[in-house]
Amino acid sequence: MSALILSGSTVAAAVRSEVAERVAALNERGQSVGLATVLVGDDPGSQIYVRSKHRAAEAAGIVSIDRRLPETASQAEVLATIAELNGDERVTGMIVQLPLPDGLDGGAAVEAVDPGKDADGLHPFNLGRLVLSRPAPLPATPSGIMRMLEYYGIETAGKAAVIVGRSFLVGRPLALLLGTKGVDATVIQAHSRTPDLAGVCREADILVTAAGRPNMFDAEYVKPGATVVDVGINRTEEGLVGDVDFDAVVDVAGAITPVPGGVGPMTIASLMVNTVALAEAKND
Ligand code: NDP
Repeated sequence: MSALILSGSTVAAAVRSEVAERVAALNERGQSVGLATVLVGDDPGSQIYVRSKHRAAEAAGIVSIDRRLPETASQAEVLATIAELNGDERVTGMIVQLPLPDGLDGGAAVEAVDPGKDADGLHPFNLGRLVLSRPAPLPATPSGIMRMLEYYGIETAGKAAVIVGRSFLVGRPLALLLGTKGVDATVIQAHSRTPDLAGVCREADILVTAAGRPNMFDAEYVKPGATVVDVGINRTEEGLVGDVDFDAVVDVAGAITPVPGGVGPMTIASLMVNTVALAEAKND
């Protein structure tokens, strides 16, 4: 039987309309919501991501502030731009588009963002709060995945979740969220040094692939009936593909996210949630 398709586009539309209502409520109280993006260099992928973030912001009534720096910008120039946006009253949320060009320190740039404006939820202060299960803006991709699982009623308590990938952007924070009290999955964090990866993945009731390896995960990696969440976005000659070989897995899995139209739209929607939540917190 073919798997249930978990449509990130559908869930994201619902989330974004909730955000638009919250933005309108703030506007009625005289407060505007502003999202600034900092893009360094001219990487085409990054330009597409930034454009879609602005489009989503504008659709939700969030004011967009688009700051671009050339590929040749120095670390000091990047930090000065961030400092200026930290001090800008119109900016209630900020995103530094990663990765930065070679030679620049993305971690230091993220750390320079005011944690109260950290729309990406990647500032060490906010990641620390996540570890402590304290309220904080959550990293967008993991929180988007959690929202999608919830929307489709995918059971997590007592389930085995295998996450392939341990980046600070996706894998690590997602492991924290899936393993947190109340969510209660039993989490295995796999990576490039994990022996018998296919065997480990076959243990998963929920398999999340965030390796950045086009079409790597075929039916051999999937337990029949499992939920498969494909985070990968890989640019190939055939266009954008995920980490999962969708056609090979769709008849084995119980539920699966497509690429495109799965996790990607949820990431953008979660950024909008963080942006409005930070503005609400400022208002309080
Ligand atoms: P990173 O390159 O930072 O991390 C990749 C992780 O996958 C690493 O932990 C690496 O292991 C592991 N890995 C790589 N190859 C293998 C392999 N053959 N077997 C097992 N593990 C492997 O990537 P990101 O976390 O930033 O992104 C992952 C993917 O998700 C990319 O395709 C990216 O484009 C996509 N992405 C999609 C988003 C969305 O909104 N849909 C948002 C963010 C990212 P090790 O640590 O041992 O090197």
